[in-house]
Amino acid sequence: MAIRILPPDVAAKIAAGEVVERPASVVKELVENSIDAGATFIRVEIQQGGKRLIRVMDDGCGIPAAEVPLAFARHATSKLDTVEDLNCVKTLGFRGEALASIAAVSQLTLSTRPAAQAAASRIRVEGGQQVSLGSAGSPAGTIITVENLFYNVPARLKFLKAEATEAGHIHRIVSHYALAYPHIRFTLLSDNRTTFQTSGSGQLFDALAAVFSLETARQMFEVAGQEDAPELPQPIELYGYTGSPSLHRGMRDQIVFFVNKRWIQDRALNQAVVQAYHTFLPVGRFPVAVLNIEVDPAQVDVNVHPTKAEVKFQEPRLIFKAVQRAVREAVVAAAPVPSYGTHPAPSATAFTGHAGDAVAWSSAFRGHSRIEAGQFGFEAQRTLPFHPAGEDEHGENAWPVEAESTSKKLPPMRVVGQIQQMYIVTEGPDGLYLIDQHAAHERILYEKLAAQKAKADVPRQQLLEPSVVELSPGHAAIVEAELDILTGIGFEIEPFGGTTYRLRSVPDMLRQAEPAQAFIDIVAEIADGAIPLAKETHEKIAITVCKRASVKGGQVLSHEEMRELVRQLEATVAPRTCPHGRPTMIHLSGAQLAREFGRI
Ligand code: ADP
Ligand code: MG
Repeated sequence: MAIRILPPDVAAKIAAGEVVERPASVVKELVENSIDAGATFIRVEIQQGGKRLIRVMDDGCGIPAAEVPLAFARHATSKLDTVEDLNCVKTLGFRGEALASIAAVSQLTLSTRPAAQAAASRIRVEGGQQVSLGSAGSPAGTIITVENLFYNVPARLKFLKAEATEAGHIHRIVSHYALAYPHIRFTLLSDNRTTFQTSGSGQLFDALAAVFSLETARQMFEVAGQEDAPELPQPIELYGYTGSPSLHRGMRDQIVFFVNKRWIQDRALNQAVVQAYHTFLPVGRFPVAVLNIEVDPAQVDVNVHPTKAEVKFQEPRLIFKAVQRAVREAVVAAAPVPSYGTHPAPSATAFTGHAGDAVAWSSAFRGHSRIEAGQFGFEAQRTLPFHPAGEDEHGENAWPVEAESTSKKLPPMRVVGQIQQMYIVTEGPDGLYLIDQHAAHERILYEKLAAQKAKADVPRQQLLEPSVVELSPGHAAIVEAELDILTGIGFEIEPFGGTTYRLRSVPDMLRQAEPAQAFIDIVAEIADGAIPLAKETHEKIAITVCKRASVKGGQVLSHEEMRELVRQLEATVAPRTCPHGRPTMIHLSGAQLAREFGRI
């Protein structure tokens, strides 16, 4: 076929396909327009999952009569002037494509009236062709009715899913915008039935309750954080809610992000939230979170995705850190802290989260301060600050393991059982111990690895088939830079072209894991660099490997396994902290129990 320029109507339909994929995309664009128009009320009505009809009504600024036909021209927008404006987009729309695209593939009616105008303008466009333009009576604001979407694009129509599925997508869009804009009153009607509604109270909590249920909202904690760095013109601000660890879900789709109140999808940020729950959630379960990230608009490129669902940050690592840190702080502050008994405060506060302790713990976790003796209020068992650095006598490449003399050995313990698939309950000569199975196992593996490393004899597991792993350029650079350390620890890696590598062996302790995935995760974690208390890279890598190899919260352990774990923990040099510096156990003495029960 000879090359020729496509007729305008064909070109318009192709272009429309980029923006309008399904009814929910129409709803998204129209709701965004209503928000940009300053609406305080947005009503979305759909019929047959939006296939038959979508109507969005708002009380926003409306479009002046003279500009109405122009709104449907491609690249017609009131939100952007020059290409420089693209650097600081503050509105949700800016491309001037949505109305043109939607109108190209549907039968559309728009009634709009700025408050100062006496009559509303009414325009009808079918398949991109204007069929009528006049005036009508209508309340101030805008009503757009989109009928028979894709009536002229049978190929697209064919791919639409069942009405309930399309309605579900629409529900998701509307509810997410309701979360981002709690001061806007949203209503969604599906086949004449109100299926979703928010009050517009301005309180995010109320929106959460409307979206997730009051029960769920009550199990969410406020997140507020700030991240500043010299490379940022203004600090990153974070605000939202994150769920209690007990509120976990089977999928990640209830982790919702907004950047400057634009709903976005971002796998890395999702991961930042999941990581913030590390050891708090059972394996394979995900938290619920709703977070808005406010950044200088110049720091984020919103023009990288056809439906603007993804954005590109200038400093993605800082954003990642900000999210991870703020969520971690919120979770730690709200979760029970390992503190008991020695506070003068009455027992009621002991397990419900003591603000001071939580802050101390979270800052320790971030590596800002070391965990010091007595910091959590239970003294006897924490007289052992973790010594992170490899001291001189260990030689340059030794990993720090506390000297025997400073250690306080564990008493003999009897395993009672496991709770929350996370903690082992044991009895010692003086009361009760709760052992964090993950932290304890990390400690055991770390010391084992350190001993093997000292003898230059780290066992590795040869893979039957070498695994080919593809890394991002950033992660590949880390592998290149740390190749010696990775090899020393048991990863046999060879370049396989570009940023692809062939993995021939893994450290023996990872033999249960899926090797390629374990390797990728470990490199990602090293890249993240968020390992407090570790100064040296080799140490950091060792900690990361142990973390990956250890049992997780959420893993049911048999009595035998628990006994073995406790036995091995007893044999370690520093049994009371994990390599990250968190406690492996908390202790409730017989005296404390007696006091709490009013026996003495
Ligand atoms: P964009 O949102 O990228 O500017 P659109 O095609 O979505 O492009 O809309 C074109 C223009 O129509 C907008 O710039 C705005 O001026 C106007 N407009 C669209 N919807 C509304 C609305 N609900 N209220 C007021 N003005 C609107
Ligand atoms: Mg728009």
